[in-house]
Amino acid sequence: MVRKIGSKNNGCTFQLKGWYDATHKVWRLNTTSIASRDFSRDLCTTADHCFLYWRLCALTRRLADYFATAYHQKRQGSLYGWAYTTIIARSLCLFPDGDSKLSHVQRSPSYRSLALCVSFWITPKSQQQQAACMDAVGNAIPENNGYSNSDEPHSSSALIFLGTGCSSAVPNAICLIKPSDPPCQVCVQSLSVPPERNPNYRCNTSLLIDCCPSGGEHKYILIDVGKTFREQVLRWFTYHKIPHVDSIVLTHEHADAVLGLDDIRAVQPFSPTNDIEPTPIFLNQHAMESLKVKFPYLVQKKLKAGQEVRRVAQLDWKIIENDCKSSFVASGLEIVPLPVMHGEDYVCLGFSFGKNTKVAYISDISRFIEETELYISKREGHQLDLLILDTLYRNNSHNTHFCFPQTLEAIKRLQPKRAYLIGMTHEFDHHRDNEFLKDWSKREGIPVQLAHDGLRIPIHL
Ligand SMILES: [Zn+2]
Ligand SMILES: [Zn+2]
Repeated sequence: MVRKIGSKNNGCTFQLKGWYDATHKVWRLNTTSIASRDFSRDLCTTADHCFLYWRLCALTRRLADYFATAYHQKRQGSLYGWAYTTIIARSLCLFPDGDSKLSHVQRSPSYRSLALCVSFWITPKSQQQQAACMDAVGNAIPENNGYSNSDEPHSSSALIFLGTGCSSAVPNAICLIKPSDPPCQVCVQSLSVPPERNPNYRCNTSLLIDCCPSGGEHKYILIDVGKTFREQVLRWFTYHKIPHVDSIVLTHEHADAVLGLDDIRAVQPFSPTNDIEPTPIFLNQHAMESLKVKFPYLVQKKLKAGQEVRRVAQLDWKIIENDCKSSFVASGLEIVPLPVMHGEDYVCLGFSFGKNTKVAYISDISRFIEETELYISKREGHQLDLLILDTLYRNNSHNTHFCFPQTLEAIKRLQPKRAYLIGMTHEFDHHRDNEFLKDWSKREGIPVQLAHDGLRIPIHL
């Protein structure tokens, strides 16, 4: 709740309080909006409101992460221990002439539970403006500190990033078992910050499309089932309350896209005799040939004479074409294959979907083939609302993947309305590189950010 805690001639101090939810390991801010909704009056224009929103979210997240990290590093008692923290953020960017720096940070030495209190200073020109500011602040910070609220049932479609990392995932094991000097800052965080609070903890790239036509039933379409699938299920299926998978779509047959297929049985109904409805799985012919060798027992239809029944994932294999013109339907959603080069000797698939919001997901690419580029390019009148695109290394290039320079170049060429990047190695630091991308986005007029594991984007498909 936003609360006025003091005032002087030139303004008032307000306070927001939050707490660390040890069960879900997230910060929750106590926010209750105050009356009056007119942000357009006087000072609080829409732009001000947006600006304030992002600054407050960024500030509170950074503070929350900082204290959560400090707490974990100190390992003082259980998470139910107590820490009361007061942060005074004076004139938190509410006014152009305000001082936006934190004036001081105090911490109580007595620990009982982690709590966060953000105080900020408002210098209103009139009472009306003050009320509007209060309102803006009250509405600016969503519960759960900007992370989606998993406690409420979601009534519309969404994209959930189950994984945003490269094949070897992040942290890179070698950075932890044989640390460099100085140690890798991105990987070392995984030793102190829990994965669900650490945007630099990245599993294999995978996207879950939560497709829910208005008022209808939720259908869950999973793109890729990599080496880290089980970990992603335990972390994000539980957090976002995903009860099952309705269809699977594969981009290609590399280890980071398929080696979790054995674990699909864990998200299927239990039957010791395998007597269940098989989950449709869409893949191209090349991937099919490879999976017959990798997982013969998942492809085999009938038991051989004398063979015992063993419980395995039940899959209904469906071949799709490497062709933008050959769309297919998975759990009611029309999907268009987007063939791209993933190394000059290999065709991998990206996918495009969404009638109302046109999305393209391309997780493994070193070069666009012309047909695909035309299909998702603004200059051909096919502008994407959202592009989700591969980027492996921060610097340099790679023979089978786009790296940062090629990814940004492609985004400039395709001109989507918005883009998220996936497939990153430990060279990317989520906070640092998103700051860089903020400037880039402003310059180029296309909002681009690194995605992170667990990110959920509501979308009208
Ligand atoms: Zn590292
Ligand atoms: Zn690959």
